[in-house]
Amino acid sequence: NTFAEIDLGELFNQNIRRCKYVKPTPIQRHAIPIALAGRDLMACAQTGSGKTAAFCFPIISSIMREQYVQRPRVARTVYPLALILSPTRELSCQIHDEAKKFSYQTGVKVVVAYGGAPINQQLRELERGVDILVATPGRLVDLLERARLSLQMIRYLALDEADRMLDMGFEPQIRKIVEQMDLPNRGVRQTMLFSATFPREIQRLASDFLSNYIFLAV
Ligand code: AMP
Repeated sequence: NTFAEIDLGELFNQNIRRCKYVKPTPIQRHAIPIALAGRDLMACAQTGSGKTAAFCFPIISSIMREQYVQRPRVARTVYPLALILSPTRELSCQIHDEAKKFSYQTGVKVVVAYGGAPINQQLRELERGVDILVATPGRLVDLLERARLSLQMIRYLALDEADRMLDMGFEPQIRKIVEQMDLPNRGVRQTMLFSATFPREIQRLASDFLSNYIFLAV
């Protein structure tokens, strides 16, 4: 079992080798082909399982093929194609760092936004364009109110450590965010939900946000 057997494209495989990833971890081996096939996914996976790459690889490799899709031309408005929500600044920065390495030289632009830091610099960064936005839910809601940022074109949504986001009280923000991409994207958006545990609240999120999904536990 190697990454070369998963059809991620040659440029992408070079980046994986550069990161010194040789063999996919179990979550990667199972989740990546499911995601590349376009299916929604509910995955129970712990920190350290390699879940970041499990959702980043299919998102980046799909966007490499789609980044030139026509986006609406509305003055200065940015339309990311993918959104990754995570509970904390630390985790968001970690995901951003990894996603940048994986997307090296692909032309896919990854931007991170998190709370507890000045918003203006993040606004300016966003306005320079973004394909994949990594964000904490509270800060994203603030940005949606202040920036010319639209979630209308989001094709890929990943929620990382969803149980932690709910423990931190982010459910209203998450629902508000998903609502903004629901109308134009119904039937188009692919959603991946990652959580260490699978309590009733996460089951409810899964049935509200995912359609016809595959359940994976590693
Ligand atoms: P994560 O569970 O995504 O936080 O990943 C845990 C750590 O494992 C990170 O430092 C990754 O860079 C590393 N990692 C993830 N997948 C692989 C892999 N297939 N081979 C080697 N290292 C990996």
